[in-house]
Amino acid sequence: MTMPTTASGNRGLQLEQGLIFELNTPGMTAVDLPTAPKVTERLGDMKNSQAIGLPGLSEPDVVRHYTRLSQKNYSIDSGFYPLGSCTMKHNPRLNEKMARLPGFADIHPFQPVSTVLGALELIDTCAAWLKDLTGMAAVAMSPAAGAHGELCGLMCIKSAHEANGQSHRKTILVPESAHGTNPATAALCGYAVEAIPANAEGRVDVAALKAHLRPEIAAVMITNPNTCGLFERDCIDIAKAVHDAGAYFYMDGANYNAIVGRLRIADLGVDAMHINLHKTFSTPHGGGGPGAGPTVLSAKLAPFAPVPMVVKVGERYDAEEHAGFGAAKQSYGRMKGYHGQFGVFVRAVSYMMAMGIDGLRQASGDAVLNANYLLARLSEELTPAFDGPCMHEAVFDDRFLKGTGVTTLDIAKALIDEGVHPPTMYFPLVVHGALLMEPTETESKATLDGFIESLLHLARKAKSGTAEADFKAAPMYSPRRRLDETKAARKPILRWLPPADGNGAKQAAE
Ligand SMILES: *Cc1c(COP(=O)(O)O)cnc(C)c1O
Repeated sequence: MTMPTTASGNRGLQLEQGLIFELNTPGMTAVDLPTAPKVTERLGDMKNSQAIGLPGLSEPDVVRHYTRLSQKNYSIDSGFYPLGSCTMKHNPRLNEKMARLPGFADIHPFQPVSTVLGALELIDTCAAWLKDLTGMAAVAMSPAAGAHGELCGLMCIKSAHEANGQSHRKTILVPESAHGTNPATAALCGYAVEAIPANAEGRVDVAALKAHLRPEIAAVMITNPNTCGLFERDCIDIAKAVHDAGAYFYMDGANYNAIVGRLRIADLGVDAMHINLHKTFSTPHGGGGPGAGPTVLSAKLAPFAPVPMVVKVGERYDAEEHAGFGAAKQSYGRMKGYHGQFGVFVRAVSYMMAMGIDGLRQASGDAVLNANYLLARLSEELTPAFDGPCMHEAVFDDRFLKGTGVTTLDIAKALIDEGVHPPTMYFPLVVHGALLMEPTETESKATLDGFIESLLHLARKAKSGTAEADFKAAPMYSPRRRLDETKAARKPILRWLPPADGNGAKQAAE
C-alpha cells in the first residue's frame, strides 16, 4: 500500500510545520508599538547596528505555529505510554492545584527563613513520609533527580570511608542488571567500576559478587527491582556480605513504585537509596524534567548528608545551610542551589496524602498486576525473556521474530501506526532484541487490552512470513516515516542559517 501524496504535504488534518524562521515575512509584526521617543543615545560602541534576525509573523501565525508543534507531542495525557523504566503514569491534577497555591508558588529562595516556615514544614513532611515508608534513619532532600541522588549517596559513602580511614577503597561493584546511571555515577565520583554478571534468571550472580568483594571495594550498587523488572531476592544476603567486607550497600530505588508500602527498605540492609519522586510519587517528567531524587540514608551515613537540611528547634522549623555547623557538622557540603525541587515536593506530599499508606500499597500492587497481565497475555505470541512473574515491568526478547526478517525495531515502528507509543527497545542490554514495557498502575484493563490486541496482531502478522516489506515501511501514518536515527544522533542540525548566507540549515550542519 502506498500513501497518496498531497499537494500541501499535509496528511488529513496533520499539518506540516516549518521552522518559525522559515515562516518569516520581513517587517510583519504581531504588535503595533508607538514610535520610540527621541532620547539621548547612551550605548556608545555597544549599539547594535545590525538586524537581530527575529522572524516576522502575525499573532495568528505565531499561535498556530506553536499549537501545531504542541500537537506533535505524544504524551501520557494523550495515550498509553508503556516506556520501560520511566514510570509514565497519570499525574493527578490535584497535585498541580496544590503546587500552584500562592503560598507555595510565589515564594522565593532568598526570602528570610522566618517568612517561609510553612515551606520548610512541607519539606519536613515529605521527608517524614519517606523515612516512615522506608524505615531509614535520614533523608537528604536536595538531589534534583534520580542520578543526582545516586551521586549524593556515593558522596556520603565516600565521606564515611574517609572519616573511617578507608580512603583506599576506590572500586564500586555494579551488576549488569543495574540501570546505566549507576556505573556513570560511580565513575563521576572518581571510582573504578567492576561489572558483576547476571545469572540466567536475570538477577545478580551472588556468588560472582561475593568473589569480587575485597578491601578495595567501597560499595555495591544494586537496582531493585532491577532493569529486567525482577526483584533481587538475595539483597539481605548481599548486604551482609558487603558489610562484612567493610563496604556499603547502595540500592537504586527508582523503581520503588513496584514495592512501596510492601517492604521496609531498612530491613534489606540498605545504606543509601534514592527515590525518584517524579516517578513513584507522580510529577509530570517527560522530556527531562523536573524531578527530585531524595536519598534515604542509614544511621551510619546520615551524619554526612548534604546541606541544606531542615531542622526543628523546639517547635520551630529552621534551615541548616552551612556544612561544618550544628546538625551539618560532618556534612560533605552542598550539591544544589537553594532547597531542592520544591514544586516536586509539593506534588509528592499532595499525592501521598491523597493516597494514604493503603493507597500507596494498592498502587504498587496494581502496577505489578498490570505488568503481569501484559506478560501473561502477550506470552501467547511473544517470548518472555525470563521465567516466572515480573514486578512492574514485563520484558520480552526477540526469539518470536526468528526467521521472519522482522526486527524489534520494526515492531516498534508498526506500533506507531497502531497509535501506541512504542515501549523501550534493545534495553536491558542483557536481553537480545529486548522489548521492555511498564504499563503502570493507572492504566485500565480496557487500555491494556487494546495494546495487547495491537501487539498480538503485529506478532502474528510478522510470523505469517508475508509482511516483511510492510514492516520495513512502517510507520506509514506518522508525520515523519523512518528517520536516519544514527545520523540524527551523530550529526544533528542544531542551527538554522538564512538561505541567503549559503545553503541554509544544510550548510550549518557541515
Ligand atoms: C529513571 C531511573 C534512574 C535515573 O533517574 P533520573 O531522575 O532520570 O536521573 C536511575 N535508575 C533507574 C532504575 C531509573 O529507572
